[in-house]
Amino acid sequence: PDHVPILELKQVQIAYGQIKAVKGIDLALHAGELVSLIGANGAGKTTTLNAIAGTLPIAAGDLIYDGASINSLPAHKRVQRGLALVPEGRGIFTRLTVEENLRMGAYIRTDKAQIETDMQRVFEMLPRVKERLAQVAGTLSGGEQQMLAIGRALLSKPKLLLLDEPSMGLAPLFVEKIFEVVQSIVREGVTVLLVEQNANLALHFSQRAYVMESGQITLTGTGDALLHDPKVRSAYLGE
Ligand code: ATP
Repeated sequence: PDHVPILELKQVQIAYGQIKAVKGIDLALHAGELVSLIGANGAGKTTTLNAIAGTLPIAAGDLIYDGASINSLPAHKRVQRGLALVPEGRGIFTRLTVEENLRMGAYIRTDKAQIETDMQRVFEMLPRVKERLAQVAGTLSGGEQQMLAIGRALLSKPKLLLLDEPSMGLAPLFVEKIFEVVQSIVREGVTVLLVEQNANLALHFSQRAYVMESGQITLTGTGDALLHDPKVRSAYLGE
């Protein structure tokens, strides 16, 4: 049922050796939501996404996805269960072609017959990627590489997509395009957790958001409420 979150973090702590990067956070996402995580550099946003994806272990607390604890589930099994991450810096294979990169996203799937249908769906969403299927991925522009990274994640057929700073380093036109793509992904029924430096855009497009500071969540609310919050305006919206 809808009132059960698709993802829940309960008092999650994440550490790099002795350094506590995330100090006991609670977070919940409901199916179909677009939720963003904003905050200054070093607040712990990337660390949090990596722990949800399973590329970093948690030191304490609970990660609950789709009704079950995933605390000790390896990253690739999380992908199989519909949890995909588009990492900071995109992580595309620069020497492979665009098409090879896309197909990598579908690598772990068992429903091979469905893959071609999903390729078409990704092409509709990302026409620019379709035009460049045979091109070596390393020769794409930053914006195109980001589109490709999103397309590759979509081919794993996620229920929950984690996006780490998709607009980073992109020209304004591409930033706009990325946010349009994120919206179309949400319209297709995928739940999205978005980490963004561009707090203004993130809050405009998100139903809800969490503000992180020094490893803790200090504020949460609807995108609209946070856009009008004086603390958020002065700390993150440059006012
Ligand atoms: P950014 O926007 O810079 O990515 P962030 O909010 O995503 O910021 P994190 O990258 O999660 O922040 O970093 C949180 C804290 O953990 C920071 O203090 C950072 O210095 C520290 N940290 C991150 N990665 C490592 C690492 N591999 N080893 C040690 N400390 C790390």
